[in-house]
Amino acid sequence: MLTITNLSKTYPNGVRALHSVNLQLDTGVFGLLGPNGAGKSTLMRTLATLQAPDSGGISLDGIDVLKAPTQLRQQLGYLPQDFGVYPRVSANALLEHVAVLKGLLDGQERRRQVDSLFELTGLAAVRHREVSTFSGGMRQRFGIAQALLGAPRLLIVDEPTAGLDPEERNRFHRLLCQLAEKCIVLLSTHIVEDVVELCAHFAVLSGGRVLLTGEPAGALERLRGHVWAKTLSPASAPHPFDSHVLSTQLVAGKPRVRVLAESSPGDGFVPETPTLEDVYFAALQGRPC
Ligand code: ADP
Repeated sequence: MLTITNLSKTYPNGVRALHSVNLQLDTGVFGLLGPNGAGKSTLMRTLATLQAPDSGGISLDGIDVLKAPTQLRQQLGYLPQDFGVYPRVSANALLEHVAVLKGLLDGQERRRQVDSLFELTGLAAVRHREVSTFSGGMRQRFGIAQALLGAPRLLIVDEPTAGLDPEERNRFHRLLCQLAEKCIVLLSTHIVEDVVELCAHFAVLSGGRVLLTGEPAGALERLRGHVWAKTLSPASAPHPFDSHVLSTQLVAGKPRVRVLAESSPGDGFVPETPTLEDVYFAALQGRPC
């Protein structure tokens, strides 16, 4: 269990990136959903002990992370948003190198882990190629392989599917789900669909605050019967239900407005099945759901 208690962080320039964040995460994929600037990376870097919070606590299975960062690092796999530039060496040599840096000094055990991680991530056939020649999806899977060295209890992945094509994204999602059977996977994303596909639990973070946390199914249930939609003509005037509007999206080139209201707004609106995107927009707008 990962427990985050009253975690706060203000940068020297005065930006308050985390406001008293409280979260509890168990084995499985936990989705941290929020727009750019919400504080997701700040939270991830703090959990990965790469930067210190101003106040608050973090514990992983009873380890006080802020007091014993080295102990946490032994239990941690981290795939940052940008894995950086790869040296011109093979995936195999690079993974072996990272394994040594992570303290896997026993050669036999190291090779056993490296072999099994190449198998797990589907990269065994290309392990002797340079990582710089890999596709985006292959690089992300290599990133996961390095993060999994040492069999971590906590795996942190920061916006991992940005830039992946649909097939690569599906494959990466299946890999995350497989890993989440045994460890806590914290997935940061601004893509609601990622949460729908992967997460049993999620939180919405915005302006450094947790606006909502729970199970997607429960959040959807709370919106049931309160979401209404209507297709507008492209040139239509602002709608009288503006204050209820959750989102306006183009469907086949026409704006379709979705509103949150206790009862039917009439005027051509029809009831809609709530989506997690409705939940997300309602939370961002500070509307109860
Ligand atoms: P996200 O990952 O959700 O996009 P970040 O954690 O990167 O959010 O950023 C949260 C806020 O903190 C933003 O306003 C960002 O500009 C600011 N911020 C992030 N890192 C720093 C930093 N090193 N110094 C100052 N401000 C920062």
